[in-house]
Amino acid sequence: MAPSSTCPEPVFAPGEKFLSFEITRVTPLPDIRQTAYEILHLRTGARILHLHNDDPENLYAICFRTPPEDSTGLPHILEHSVLAGSERYPLKDVFNELHRASLQTFINAFTYPDKTVYPVASQVKKDFFNLARVYTDLVLRPRLLRETFLQEGHHFEFADPGNPDSELVISGIVYNEMKGAYSSPDSLMFKAIQENLYPDTIYRNDSGGAPDAIPNLTYEQFRAFHRSYYSPSNARFFFYGDIPTRDCLTFLAEMLDGFDAVTVESHIAPQERWTAPRSVCGEYPIGADEDATAKTAVNVAWMLADNLDYETVILLEIVSWALVGSAAGPLRKVLVESGLGEDLSPVTGLEKDIKQLAFVVGLRGSEADRAAAVEALILDTVARLAESGFERDLIEGALHQVEFHGKEISRGAYPYGITLMGRVFHTWLYDGDPLAGLNFPAMIDDIRRRWDRDPALFQKVLRRWFLENPHRLLSVMKPSTTYQSEQEARSREALRVMAEALSPEDRARIASDALRLNRFQTEPDPPEAAALLPAIAIGDLSPEVDVIPVESEIRQGVTVLSHDLFTNGIAYLHIAFDVAHIPDELQPYLPLLCRLMTGLGAGELSYDALSKKIALKTGGLGAHLASGFRIGGCETWQKMIVHVRMLYRNIPDAVGILSDILFRGNLTEMARIRDLIFEDRNDLQAAVVPSGHLFAKRTAAASLTLPAYREEQWHGRSQLKFIHALAESWDERQGDFIRKIDDLKSRIIRKDRMILNLTADRQGLNLLEEAVGTIMTALKEVPSTICDVPVPALPSRVGIAIPAQVSYVAEAFPAPTYGSSLAAPLFVLSRLLSNGCLYQKIRVQGGAYGGMCLYDPTNGLFSFLSYRDPHLERTLAVYEEALRFAGDGVIADEEIQKAVIGSIGALDRPMDPAGRGFASMIRHFSGLTDEERRRFRQAVLSMGNRELTAGALQYLAGVKNRSAVAVYSAGEKMNQANETLRPSLQIEPLT
Ligand SMILES: [Zn+2]
Repeated sequence: MAPSSTCPEPVFAPGEKFLSFEITRVTPLPDIRQTAYEILHLRTGARILHLHNDDPENLYAICFRTPPEDSTGLPHILEHSVLAGSERYPLKDVFNELHRASLQTFINAFTYPDKTVYPVASQVKKDFFNLARVYTDLVLRPRLLRETFLQEGHHFEFADPGNPDSELVISGIVYNEMKGAYSSPDSLMFKAIQENLYPDTIYRNDSGGAPDAIPNLTYEQFRAFHRSYYSPSNARFFFYGDIPTRDCLTFLAEMLDGFDAVTVESHIAPQERWTAPRSVCGEYPIGADEDATAKTAVNVAWMLADNLDYETVILLEIVSWALVGSAAGPLRKVLVESGLGEDLSPVTGLEKDIKQLAFVVGLRGSEADRAAAVEALILDTVARLAESGFERDLIEGALHQVEFHGKEISRGAYPYGITLMGRVFHTWLYDGDPLAGLNFPAMIDDIRRRWDRDPALFQKVLRRWFLENPHRLLSVMKPSTTYQSEQEARSREALRVMAEALSPEDRARIASDALRLNRFQTEPDPPEAAALLPAIAIGDLSPEVDVIPVESEIRQGVTVLSHDLFTNGIAYLHIAFDVAHIPDELQPYLPLLCRLMTGLGAGELSYDALSKKIALKTGGLGAHLASGFRIGGCETWQKMIVHVRMLYRNIPDAVGILSDILFRGNLTEMARIRDLIFEDRNDLQAAVVPSGHLFAKRTAAASLTLPAYREEQWHGRSQLKFIHALAESWDERQGDFIRKIDDLKSRIIRKDRMILNLTADRQGLNLLEEAVGTIMTALKEVPSTICDVPVPALPSRVGIAIPAQVSYVAEAFPAPTYGSSLAAPLFVLSRLLSNGCLYQKIRVQGGAYGGMCLYDPTNGLFSFLSYRDPHLERTLAVYEEALRFAGDGVIADEEIQKAVIGSIGALDRPMDPAGRGFASMIRHFSGLTDEERRRFRQAVLSMGNRELTAGALQYLAGVKNRSAVAVYSAGEKMNQANETLRPSLQIEPLT
């Protein structure tokens, strides 16, 4: 069904009763296309909110208030454990079953500092209620077995499992997950602020769990926490989508049957406001040989208003955006240009997932002895703005951004329902009006009226919440080359003390517990238990592919693709330039070209003036790089894609900005260019630990195919090394750098093999077509030749040393693309292995946060990855085992059916209008037709044991000995592994 611009007619009136519920409030919100029902479950007091609309991707979430009492990670371990199984569904891991064998478009669970949320989403009504039914049963009536607690939380085991005299180690999935989190500078930085800004509240505790504290948690405490907080009386149920309210309530009435009201003490007390500012100093790990110069982060944080004071919250959102939200933000600008640090701290901005909001701002790449100067600069700037006020265009830009994002139908990686749910919980969780933060257009009108009446409105906000607010924290995070080793020595010492105190009986018990856990983990679920889960059948799946409307025509020698889609008054423009002809040695410059094109000034405008204009006239503008194979796998494509999104009324202005950027961009703002390069370097460096598996995959795959090699050059460690070296020798290299960027622009911004991609409804398309005419006329008509380079010989066994307490292990193989008869079997196989043996061996038994297998038919890669993994050699052995298993022909038909259902779910992942237009363009590059997609889908749907095994065998025979391995881990750990690993890893530092 096509989305519309109105909200559904209300079907209930306030005060009306239905089943065991009372409708307490009905609010049509036509501006955001929702009708909101607030509902009370009369017996338990459970609160329900339904946002009814015409989105077929329905979302359901159960939320409990779960204030943590300490940092043992209780809420987090419970979040993992309830999803294991319930009395009605007595399996070992129901979550994994739902994940792999349903049409879910989203299934997850989140632990926040004060709440735990369990959301599921699907586009198919039957599947949606299956998921919702099982999820509700799991959270309200979980089994919480001791084995689950040991597996998800923590347990002791002996390094050599059969030998109680060998070294004692701690394992557990959450334990290893949090070891990874505690290696990431960004998470440590935010943690230090949260714990010290709210020191007298529950927020001083880490709901996720501190690795040192997790082993103190007992099984009894764990069960007691569930009894206290997981009752309907402490729950909030959130529904979103096009399913009628009556159906949602009929379902929920059945689920809540048998529960009574209980008194739950989960009130979250506020932090008392300080009378004087405070400061705190902490450390984060860097590599043992890394230079510690210019690696300190200095942040200033304020505790602001309560989330319930929504009128103030929206003002604070606008002020926060005006201060630091764009390159023109005066506080951002003054900090970045001060020379006191390299770039803005990554935790900068407004934090709303806490009862009282915080605003944080600071610099990264600084020194501890500059902390006072950073703080003074921030305070002086705020004082100056409180005196003089913001420039009008900055506030207008902020208001335009709120309007744009309120109007845009945007899914991104998460369902749109998740975005609205997040806003709802900011007030609802603290017993406030759940709708307070939802109606953006109405709020903006209100702010405009207030601003007209009182031009000093935002100055007053600055004075009240920043200048005259003594609840302020100065936080300094210093790099430490010994943090990692000291942390490890401390854990080892704690374990040694514990081990020494153990009697022979204790040791025997640990050994037998570990054995019992292992038996529990490896025993299959009884088939009759698995049959209890409601499931979708293959016959329920649609054989049809979703067809994206596309019209293709050649205008002025350029291919123009148009997608006539309902976009709620927003137009999307992509311009794809070819970069396949750019010589190999210039390719690493392309990501910086993307960044500089959209981050500098153009025409008469300086970078900050242009940034203001971008905020006023567009919903976002940027450039990025993408590459892949054409169908059949013989040719590749490599593109630089520039994009802009805008309201219809701004199309001429927004396209004008884009045209200025392309043709009149200036490369003379040297200080700004330097800042952007340092910022990019720091962002990429900070991404390594949180996304170690993706970096490892890029490094491994780079030696295999050209698209993968480009991916590593543009987005992987090679890019980090390149930009790192550039930043280190910036003074000598800047002249040469600017010449190269200038040269690249003239080689890329030309008509040859360029593609225009337009997405909007008919009215918007007409406006867009008219506006892009000027760009086409201005483009040069120089033909270029593609030089398809061979991938250079790279080492195929690499270890990259990083300061982390856990490992990321990747192994990649070259694989066929779409168009090959092997594509469908490999697609299903990768899901089977991911959710089957990798999940089991790497996560469940190995204690890693994740283990997965990915097949990417666009880039021709088949890969194995592990995430926050305590093992290394063992994980590589599991990969080998997985491949053998794939060719053995022993996979049961039910398993294949589940993988087929999951595969179709993955193929049908919904996209927002911008995403659909973009996907259609990528299919155009790849030559992937709807006919080919139908063939592929059909092959997936009819996959059986015979087809799968034959495909796996044929594929494996062709890739034997062609794999590449990359490990990101601590140097010491890899040296140790190299003693036994054959072939061994070639170990290199990160940069
Ligand atoms: Zn977790």
